[in-house]
Amino acid sequence: MPELPEVETVRRGLARWSLNSTINAVQVLHHRATNPRSVAPLDVVAGASIAEISRRGKFLWFDLDRPYALVAHLGMSGQFRIQPVGAPDEKHLRARLLLDGHQELRFIDQRTFGWLAVSANEGPVPQLVSAIAPDIFDPLFDRSAVINKYRKKETEIKRALLDQNLMSGVGNIYADESLWRAKIHPQSRCDELSPRKIENLLAAAEIVMSKALVEGGTSFDSLYINVNGESGYFAHSLEAYGRENEPCSRCATHIRRIVFGGRSSHFCPKCQRL
Ligand SMILES: [Zn+2]
Repeated sequence: MPELPEVETVRRGLARWSLNSTINAVQVLHHRATNPRSVAPLDVVAGASIAEISRRGKFLWFDLDRPYALVAHLGMSGQFRIQPVGAPDEKHLRARLLLDGHQELRFIDQRTFGWLAVSANEGPVPQLVSAIAPDIFDPLFDRSAVINKYRKKETEIKRALLDQNLMSGVGNIYADESLWRAKIHPQSRCDELSPRKIENLLAAAEIVMSKALVEGGTSFDSLYINVNGESGYFAHSLEAYGRENEPCSRCATHIRRIVFGGRSSHFCPKCQRL
């Protein structure tokens, strides 16, 4: 599933190829392409121009010259692609927007967990995104307030990291990587971690996602705006996620995988003690 670095890479690609374009028409090809919380059919955005492409956590949106925005979530496998008009349809094409009369912005999604939606947008974020907490790169991110929120959670730190209402953008991959880097066991209880430990964890999350973003940022070219949530751009740099039974790069102990809260967690049993 695409997490913050992948979605930010897509945002940058979209900004590069569609900013200031006018949306001439919208065609929806699959009923699941429209989120049920959309306040209007997607074709209401026809005639609008794209003023900005924004992101919070894993949510993207097109700021329009209208009091509403077109919000997108990539789900498990969503992709955007810019194509010339008339290019053959992709197998899993779910919606297309005709831009400036000569190119198409296409939403392609094999597993159909991704969606688009029209949402009121009177700032700072669309209504549909307003319950999502700022991510660590957001100017509105309040580090000390977030540390306090984590410290009050009576749950495991891994679960709290995935809670998009505390801090957004972190999913299973970057949670495991951040915990490895900060040397914190995924099942550590939030309310037993010191403020210093949580601060270190946030710093680790920032570093890990920044590094991933640099790698993601180099992978798109020409008219292709890709996100591959299955393998991830960052795969070769992972220290814990997906490395079960491989040696920890710090201490050579084999990485372990455990399952709790319905999710896999990967960690080094020596570096990350409970
Ligand atoms: Zn280790």
